[in-house]
Amino acid sequence: MNEEKDLKKKILIAEDDPISRRLLEVFLTRWGYQVSVAASGIEALELLEKADAPRLAVLDWMMPGLEGVQVCRKIRERKDRPYIYILLLSARTQKEDLLLGLESGADDYLTKPFDAQELRARLHVGQRILQLQDGLMVAGAELLFRATHDSLTGIANRDVILDSLRREHSRQVREGGSFGIVLLDVDHFKSVNDTFGHLCGDAVLQEVVRRVTSTVRAYDTVGRYGGEEFLIVAPSSGAEGILRLSERVRLAIETEPIKTDGGEISVTLSLGLAVSSEATPLDPKIMLSTADEALYRAKAEGRNRSEMGILEDSGSATIVEIAPVKIGSQ
Ligand SMILES: [Mg+2]
Repeated sequence: MNEEKDLKKKILIAEDDPISRRLLEVFLTRWGYQVSVAASGIEALELLEKADAPRLAVLDWMMPGLEGVQVCRKIRERKDRPYIYILLLSARTQKEDLLLGLESGADDYLTKPFDAQELRARLHVGQRILQLQDGLMVAGAELLFRATHDSLTGIANRDVILDSLRREHSRQVREGGSFGIVLLDVDHFKSVNDTFGHLCGDAVLQEVVRRVTSTVRAYDTVGRYGGEEFLIVAPSSGAEGILRLSERVRLAIETEPIKTDGGEISVTLSLGLAVSSEATPLDPKIMLSTADEALYRAKAEGRNRSEMGILEDSGSATIVEIAPVKIGSQ
């Protein structure tokens, strides 16, 4: 809220003529603005480059060094900065001047000598535009979040986690090394929904995600792959590392029942693993199908277990059986 207050209050005046400058300062202060003053275009630009710069600026056109329109152009060149609403002041009254001023990036234009009430009203317009602009930024950020995250669990959605997988693959192509993925599925999830209802089912998925995300390393990515299927992309992991990670995740779920409004529910995970190693780099699609095969086997072998999928060679879809890892429990 402070920011909104600042947005309304802070303003910059750039005017080389001391009398006009003082006059503007007196008016704007009286209207409740928090006024910064610059006596030249260069000074104005410096002030507007600061992190906490005013978002409203009244710039005189004719100033030695850097003119108002030049300041405008420089401000508009900056991307990824909060928008600054600029009102140009000029003794020039020709239509061409007005057009040139607006083309340089000014939002509004007022001729000197200015009418104080008109200036005040036009600055109100500027404040309104800034508020709309900021509202749009917030809405845009919210839309982006919704488009990239799973609404139930708040983690990356399918598109984003698959992007992470492709990115990790590209990184491996460039830099070598190995990485792994874990495809995990909540065992008998349908019966959780059937027995306890969908709200409890949702609560189970949320808690599973909470435990999984707090178990993986900071640089691993977790996303919702399907209904009760989740995918972990784990950079810098070989076969051993990904098995350890998978087992930590499995135990984090198995060890403690999940508390829901419908009572405590014990769930387990089946996990299918795949590694793309420096010696045998795998295409993301092959990696996914390998992990999927391994997950299928984990289900077939009795669930609540990790299975590693390994290709005989990168061209073959055959999975070589390796000893399943089972730590701590049946
Ligand atoms: Mg001047």
